[in-house]
Amino acid sequence: MVKEIMKITMSSPDITQAEIDAVMSVLHTQYLSFGPHLTAFEEGLSRYVGIKHGIAVNSGTSGLHLCMIAAGIGEGDEVITPSFSFIASANAILYERAIPVFVDIDPLTGNMDPRLVEEKITPKTKAIMPVHAFGQPVDMDPILEIARKHNLFVIEDACEAIGSQYKGRYAGTMGDAAVFAFYPNKQITTGEGGMIISNRDDWAEMYRSLRNQGRDVFNAWLNHTRLGYNYRLDEMSAALGAVQVTRLDDLLNKRAQVAQWYNERINEIPGIEKPHIMPTTTRMSWFVYVVRCGEGVSRNALMENLQKVDIPTRPYFVPIHLQPFYQERFGYEKGDFPNTEQAGETFIALPFSGVMTEDQVNYVCEHIRSCVNDSPN
Ligand SMILES: *Cc1c(COP(=O)(O)O)cnc(C)c1O
Repeated sequence: MVKEIMKITMSSPDITQAEIDAVMSVLHTQYLSFGPHLTAFEEGLSRYVGIKHGIAVNSGTSGLHLCMIAAGIGEGDEVITPSFSFIASANAILYERAIPVFVDIDPLTGNMDPRLVEEKITPKTKAIMPVHAFGQPVDMDPILEIARKHNLFVIEDACEAIGSQYKGRYAGTMGDAAVFAFYPNKQITTGEGGMIISNRDDWAEMYRSLRNQGRDVFNAWLNHTRLGYNYRLDEMSAALGAVQVTRLDDLLNKRAQVAQWYNERINEIPGIEKPHIMPTTTRMSWFVYVVRCGEGVSRNALMENLQKVDIPTRPYFVPIHLQPFYQERFGYEKGDFPNTEQAGETFIALPFSGVMTEDQVNYVCEHIRSCVNDSPN
């Protein structure tokens, strides 16, 4: 049995003196919004993934919303996306009064199953929005092929997958546009924040206008007044992000080390399965560390027992189609997406960050082991 008490948090940002200095330096200038750090952050990140444009916004959700607008998605249009995601991905579709059409997942990875996409296409389908769940890229080649064949846009929700690679290609660079997010639990943080990336010049211009109240002059076809938003990222956040980007490889390596410690320990616990990484994932950017409870292990009982010793965990994800608002609005029922629901009942996110120590991982895993051993089944 483990005797000592350790303070374990669900996640933790990784901030050094360089970030603190950068944020403080902004406060000595008059540029608290739209200053040099915003440009540095946008250029640094787009250079990192090798894409033409990076447009910073004040959240990942705002970024996804603007992606819907730029793609011309409107009332009654359909966007194919997984229900097994954070609610923001489907909500962004609803903001434009379009309809999220859910597909089930590959039960191994939690990512949308490309084999189920084509049957969901109707004359109203405008786009596919794959979500790279937990940091692992979706199997993109078949999705890109379906999109080409049916003339659909691909908007990647890469909010959990900055730096991940699919067959050597960065998550976020495969579709028409993509979004990263920088909430404090993400691989890099700006406090609140997000960034849209795209190779399309016309969309980049539109994103810059939309985030800034619809200001700016456009070329002819866009040269009219549009409804804009205040989705700007402030300069303090941008300064923080710009430094975090320069540390991205280091931050991802630290997270990979923690994931490896977890993998080794979880392997030795019967009834708990470690994350499944596909061979197409040539580089994994770990956002969360999610394990699956096998037959005979109650996920909810495990969560409760871990909470008793102050080890936080999360059910990850709770399927979107079973959220009260979606059930009410669209009439979804249990059984509509079996793999998604199964994952929703058996997946559990463990405490995870790049600043976790090996001792902390051991501590969490020893408690998991004793909870699993003590369980009546
Ligand atoms: C974090 C996240 C977002 C965006 O979240 P914000 O809090 O708005 O930055 C969107 N989709 C997924 C899948 C996410 O994990």
